[in-house]
Amino acid sequence: MSIKLEQVTKVFGAQRVLDDVSLTIAEGEFFVVLGPSGCGKSTLLRLISGLEPLDGGRIEINGREVASSDQHLPPEARGVGVVFQSYALWPHMSVASNVAFPLETAGKTKAEITRRTDECLATVELTRFAERKPADLSGGQRQRVALARCLAQGASTILMDEPLANLDPHLRGAMEEELSAFHKASGATTLFITHDQREAMALADRIAILWEGRLLQADAPEVIYRRPNNRQVAGFIGQGAIATVAVLGSEGDQAHIRLGGCDFTVSALPGTPTGTAALLLRPEDLEIGAADARLTGRVGRTVYRGGFHEAEITLPGSETPLLARVPTKPQAGAEIGVSIRSGWVLPA
Ligand code: ADP
Ligand code: MG
Repeated sequence: MSIKLEQVTKVFGAQRVLDDVSLTIAEGEFFVVLGPSGCGKSTLLRLISGLEPLDGGRIEINGREVASSDQHLPPEARGVGVVFQSYALWPHMSVASNVAFPLETAGKTKAEITRRTDECLATVELTRFAERKPADLSGGQRQRVALARCLAQGASTILMDEPLANLDPHLRGAMEEELSAFHKASGATTLFITHDQREAMALADRIAILWEGRLLQADAPEVIYRRPNNRQVAGFIGQGAIATVAVLGSEGDQAHIRLGGCDFTVSALPGTPTGTAALLLRPEDLEIGAADARLTGRVGRTVYRGGFHEAEITLPGSETPLLARVPTKPQAGAEIGVSIRSGWVLPA
């Protein structure tokens, strides 16, 4: 129940929409592809589901080659279920009939269809809505019908293209929890596509960052956030700033760095060389106004974020202002003591 892509390439006209994309999604994994609009996410999903042929590389699903330069299995032969951003439900059919549809098409017996439909509706907790029409459901409930229909197909591999993008923000949080529960209950290998990093962080076992058709990094959410491979990932995910520092030496996954004339210990790849490097500082890496502060920064713009203020602080040597969280609003232009508690040296 795994998905494997090797050097997958897709070209539209003169545009290389996917360029040399390789990744492996493990059985039962919830794998999220995250990237800005237009980076090739939907194209990736269409190649895996078989809606689009590829131009280079190969795709395996459950150990079977489904696409390569001389192979293109049609979508129905790939055993994957797809859930799109628009739910694509039949408006004139009841919830139960929508879910039963793939079972009927597959020519199952009436008893079998009823049993499976009931099971799938129970998994998404829609049993009491079985006789309603899609129009009489909330957006979140409609999305659950689409999930149940996907389950009814018997798909152990599910692809989802921004399924929460059409929902109201307050519903999205609830649907994220439901998707997680659904994933646990079904055990399906899931490829979930989104441009929303908060959603990706909340759902993913692993996140792959797709950028202009190239895969920049695929790792657990904490690793993507704390230890990005490069500036693009660091800048795309979360908040933070990059300072130019001198690496004085390293031991294991720690590096000793100098910034603004002071020495600090931060995280780094083992074997990080000495010399000039870029240090990523997230807001939580900085402590402001501590008694032992060794650096002095200048306060710029401050924004209230609910519970704390986020202040831009310029340190000597920082390329862009650092973002720090402070409990009380500091005076713009004031000088303020800054301590660096952690950080990540970006790999060269
Ligand atoms: P995303 O889902 O990340 O927003 P898409 O995969 O839909 O991105 O599109 C990636 C790029 O490929 C875009 O520049 C888009 O215009 C282009 N593209 C997608 N489908 C086609 C197509 N059928 N013909 C030509 N260009 C396409
Ligand atoms: Mg898309």
